[in-house]
Amino acid sequence: MEQKQSIYFAGLDIGGSTIKAVLVDETAGQVGEIIEVPSRVTEGYETCFKQLEDALRLLTEGANVSQDAINGVGLDVPGPSSDGVIWGQANLSKDWVGVNIRDAFSKHIGLPAVMVNDCNAAAVGEYAVRRKQVGGLLYLAPGTGLGGGLVLSGGKLYEGYNCLAIEPGHMSVPFRDEDGELPDCTCGLKGCLETWVSLIALRRCLKIELAKTKWAAHSLNSDDSTIENKAFRLRDLAEENDPLAVQIFKQQGVILGYAISDLLRLFDPGLVVIGGGLTETSFRDKYMEWVMEGFEEHCWPMHKKSPIDPQKTTTKIEWAQGGDSAGALGMAFTAHDLFG
Ligand SMILES: [Zn+2]
Repeated sequence: MEQKQSIYFAGLDIGGSTIKAVLVDETAGQVGEIIEVPSRVTEGYETCFKQLEDALRLLTEGANVSQDAINGVGLDVPGPSSDGVIWGQANLSKDWVGVNIRDAFSKHIGLPAVMVNDCNAAAVGEYAVRRKQVGGLLYLAPGTGLGGGLVLSGGKLYEGYNCLAIEPGHMSVPFRDEDGELPDCTCGLKGCLETWVSLIALRRCLKIELAKTKWAAHSLNSDDSTIENKAFRLRDLAEENDPLAVQIFKQQGVILGYAISDLLRLFDPGLVVIGGGLTETSFRDKYMEWVMEGFEEHCWPMHKKSPIDPQKTTTKIEWAQGGDSAGALGMAFTAHDLFG
C-alpha cells in the first residue's frame, strides 16, 4: 500500500507501568489508534527508550505512515523534571535523575523532542480535545496525590521559570484534623491541599474515622487488611452509597471546591477541568455537587456570574474528556505546535 506523504507528530506518555502513544497530523487531528506498551521505567531509562521506540514503530505501522514523516515527538514523564532534566526519582529507577531525558531521547531517535511532567501533559491534552471551544484551562487531577496544569489561551502551557509551576497539591489550606493539627504532607510541609484531596488523604481520613466508635460495626473494621487496601475499596463503597465512604469523598470534594475558588483568584482560567480516576465513577455527579458546594461557599460572586450580565457564567467547572490518553494527546499537540 502506498504510504501517506504528510507530516506527523507523536505524543509519548510514559506512565509508571505503561507507555501510551498517539500520532497527530498537520491539523493536530489524531491519526490511527492509541498504542500501549509496557514502560519498564524501573529498569533504567535506556530500557525505557527501547520501549518508546517500539511504541513509535507500532504507531507508524498502525497508521500506515513512514517513520521519516514524523517531524517531532512530545514526551511526558511521571516525575518532577525541569527543562528536560529529571529532578526526582518518583516511580523511576535512580539512573534517570539528573539526566536530560529530552535531549538524550531526541539524539537517540534523531528527532526534535519536547518534554514536560505528566499532569502538565494531561492539561494540554484536555485543551487539545476542546481547542475549538475554549480559551485556556486549569487542570486538577486528584490521584495518588493532587496534580495540576495551566494552559493559557492559544494552548501554551504555563510551566514557570524553572518548569516547576502549578503544584496545587502543595498549596496550604486552612483545614485541620480534629486534634487541631495540620496534617503532615509527603513533601515535608504541613497542611497541604493534597493531605485533604488525594488517595493519600483517603487513607489518612479513613484511618481516623475507622477508629471512632461510630464506625465500629462498619464492614471495613471487620477485616485486618491494610489501610491502603481499605482505602482502595472506598470508591466502590461510595458507588454503593456507603455512608462512611460518602462522608469521606464529600469532604474531599468540598475542600477541592474551596481550593478552586482560591485558584480562580490567581488565574481566572474560565474553565476548570477535573481529571483523575474519579472521572469514571458512578458518583461523579454527586462529587461535582460537593465541589460546587465548597466553591460557592468561598468564591467571589464574579467568579460564578458576571455582575453586569447575570446570564453570563464566568467560570465553568467540568470533568476531563481525554480519558487516560490525555497525556499522550497533549504531548502530540505540543510537538505539533513546536515543530510543525
Ligand atoms: Zn505538600
